[in-house]
Amino acid sequence: MTNQKCIFCDIIKKTLPSQIVAETDDVLVIKDISPKAPIHYLLLPKKHIKDLRDLTLDDAKLAGNLLLMAAMLAEKENTAFRLVVNNGAEAGQVVFHAHVHFLAGKKMSHDL
Ligand code: AMP
Ligand code: ZN
Repeated sequence: MTNQKCIFCDIIKKTLPSQIVAETDDVLVIKDISPKAPIHYLLLPKKHIKDLRDLTLDDAKLAGNLLLMAAMLAEKENTAFRLVVNNGAEAGQVVFHAHVHFLAGKKMSHDL
């Protein structure tokens, strides 16, 4: 379920400190340590999945719960938001435990 050399697994196990925003049975939300927007959260599945390419049908509920968590955060913050998921180093992924970036609080351009 967890990976010994993964910083996000350590954060989920709470052996590494983080700023926790929300938590459910299968998702932990923390503040990004290097925010790219006034609100920049990371939605972490508690299960260690390298990136979305490793999702299986068994993860369908978890994948849905990540989106529901984003909706809940947006309602709480009363804000529009952008979700970003980097999958693979060429796509900009640096931490190889799947996570959803929740970005809000600034005007974002139509272009990605
Ligand atoms: P990605 O490029 O999609 O893999 O994004 C990794 C994100 O994790 C970056 O936005 C980092 O700023 C963030 N990050 C790395 N280490 C930590 C940490 N210890 N606590 C919170 N966020 C982190
Ligand atoms: Zn992990």
